[in-house]
Amino acid sequence: MYKIGIVGGGIIGCAIAYFLGKLGESSIILFEKSYLSSGATGRCGGGIRQQWSSRENVRLAKRSVKFFERFEEELGVDIEYRQGGYLLLAFNEKEVEQFERNVQMQRNEGLNVEVLTKREVKKRYPFINTNGLKMATFCQKDGHANPHKATFAFANAAKDFGIKIYTREEVLDIQKERGNYRIITNKGEYICEVLVNAAGPWSKEIGKMMGVELPTESFRHQIFVTEPVEYFFPFMAISFSKNFYMRQTLHGNFIMGQGDKDEKPGINRNVTFRFEKEMAKKMVFFFPFLNELRVLRHWSGEYNMSPDAQPILGAKGNFFYAVGFSGHGFMLAPAVGEAIAELILFGKTLHSDISHLNLDRFKGKLEIERNVV
Ligand SMILES: Cc1cc2nc3c(=O)[nH]c(=O)nc-3n(C[C@H](O)[C@H](O)[C@H](O)COP(=O)(O)OP(=O)(O)OC[C@H]3O[C@@H](n4cnc5c(N)ncnc54)[C@H](O)[C@@H]3O)c2cc1C
Repeated sequence: MYKIGIVGGGIIGCAIAYFLGKLGESSIILFEKSYLSSGATGRCGGGIRQQWSSRENVRLAKRSVKFFERFEEELGVDIEYRQGGYLLLAFNEKEVEQFERNVQMQRNEGLNVEVLTKREVKKRYPFINTNGLKMATFCQKDGHANPHKATFAFANAAKDFGIKIYTREEVLDIQKERGNYRIITNKGEYICEVLVNAAGPWSKEIGKMMGVELPTESFRHQIFVTEPVEYFFPFMAISFSKNFYMRQTLHGNFIMGQGDKDEKPGINRNVTFRFEKEMAKKMVFFFPFLNELRVLRHWSGEYNMSPDAQPILGAKGNFFYAVGFSGHGFMLAPAVGEAIAELILFGKTLHSDISHLNLDRFKGKLEIERNVV
């Protein structure tokens, strides 16, 4: 018998386990059907940004950045975290208006965001082709980190608190039993008082086992990495209208991806030559220095989308959910892990207000997050 069962060994499940342990709870069992960070987390771009269009996302990202800044000190692991900034590029008037609204809200939230003219971008980053650019925004405190290292750091620290983490153990069914949950896996059966759905791309299936309809859908996102060159590009560049993001790892490789509006919902981990061709052509146009580089590896993962592209966080009784991260779950994990742990143990959150992010919001008018690729 355990107090808490967690389904999912991605960054979210491992962060929740860590914060529960930190708050003194160790009667916890986490199930991961494959290896830790095998889901969306280990396939992601590692970007950590606070420049969002929705206030909720800005607040969660800000809280997370505070944690990332002291991650190494608190967990003793270097996760290659760097605050090299995020450059958001606007290419049309509609986007300019949206960025201006965003910056006003972001500054009201205490974020230090610069607004750059095309000329300023050109001067600061002469290696970017600014053809068609209208303006840009930049936040130096944004950055990136290594998602595998972050997940393993949370998981290992959770284990040090006495939390059980079982990999290669798939949750097949969950049954309610006298106020508790019976978790049936491919290896055995366990009883828990509380259950947490941190199953990422499989969030809907776990919800169904509990009789809770989660409005999430998973979509393939492809991404590739080039051979390494000298490190000179410390920030992440992103465009929503041109549909790309790119960063350079500390080892020198460039990682880049784009969304595809023609993707059908479901899990599909194949990769396509079309993606490689489109991506390479577009990126060489905006970043001509890439022309010399070869693609090393190309893979795909999932965005677990919610209808408004904001995470779905909350509980129905003793069933807690942290799902629907819509392409930004890695960066939000510290704030979300902390908030869900507090919600489970205290019945309320102490540091982040997530009350607008629960399932009830889908009964009303939605505020769609615009800053998503
Ligand atoms: C190409 C790409 C780029 C991205 N870039 C960024 C980025 O730059 N910044 C950012 O913040 N986010 C990014 N994301 C999104 C980010 O990866 C996700 O939002 C985040 O990793 C979600 O974490 P998670 O723990 O919820 O899900 P996951 O990492 O998918 O973890 C869920 C885990 O649950 C396990 N599981 C599922 N069902 C079961 C079961 N029945 N039994 C046991 N285990 C189960 C799975 O195996 C999986 O490991 C990107 C995603 C992709 C695909």
